[in-house]
Amino acid sequence: MTRRKLVAGNWKMNGLVKDRDFPKALSDALGEEPRCDVLLCPPVTLLPLIAADKPDWLLLGGQDCAPQASGAHTGDVSAAMLADVGCMHVIVGHSERRADHGETNQLVKAKAIAALDAGLRPIVCVGETLDERESGEAEAVVVSQFLASLPECAADKIVIAYEPVWAIGTGRTATPEDAQAMHDAIRAAWPGDDAAALRIVYGGSMNPGNAESLLQQSDIDGGLVGGASLKPQDFARIIQSVR
Ligand code: PEP
Repeated sequence: MTRRKLVAGNWKMNGLVKDRDFPKALSDALGEEPRCDVLLCPPVTLLPLIAADKPDWLLLGGQDCAPQASGAHTGDVSAAMLADVGCMHVIVGHSERRADHGETNQLVKAKAIAALDAGLRPIVCVGETLDERESGEAEAVVVSQFLASLPECAADKIVIAYEPVWAIGTGRTATPEDAQAMHDAIRAAWPGDDAAALRIVYGGSMNPGNAESLLQQSDIDGGLVGGASLKPQDFARIIQSVR
């Protein structure tokens, strides 16, 4: 089965109203329609502004959602609210949220279920720390995090992002071989019989210089890109690395 690749930009807590024209700058940098799915996850404040003026091929996503559907949860954003402003995806369980907000696998799973209930595709993030990699536990840690964070659903309703914590925002990247091995282990652990449909993207200091060798790997179905997605030229070059 050929899985269409997905290149997603995670702007984290960056972006102001003046950045609403990013889609135009990205289109200009690309020069033609991308050969893969392209998703932008700006801060929630920019979602309606960007949704109002973007090319059809550019998908929008949230960076997080509440596990509840609605109600008295001050400051939280529900999956239905994201869908309401045009999102089709939402990132859940990013390592920055696991670290900064103490998010557990159980909470990440509840958020992924809330996303599915609202018709969104959750992008469930997993990844090991440097200590865990250096002590040879990376695969066991990631597979157990993956299984514990996973909602019950068909493989084509979800995306998994393998993001080694030590590679996020550090300029250090997993080698294509190490990333491929981890993606293969994640796919092998998928509990259903439709693992071939599961998209597993890599994240961690992906940039125009390393994207092609990562994206060529058979089980790397795209990228989750932080810093480099803020610059239209760099993001475009990563998208163009999909052959
Ligand atoms: C991320 O935020 O998911 C990420 C991978 O960041 P960066 O590309 O900056 O390492």
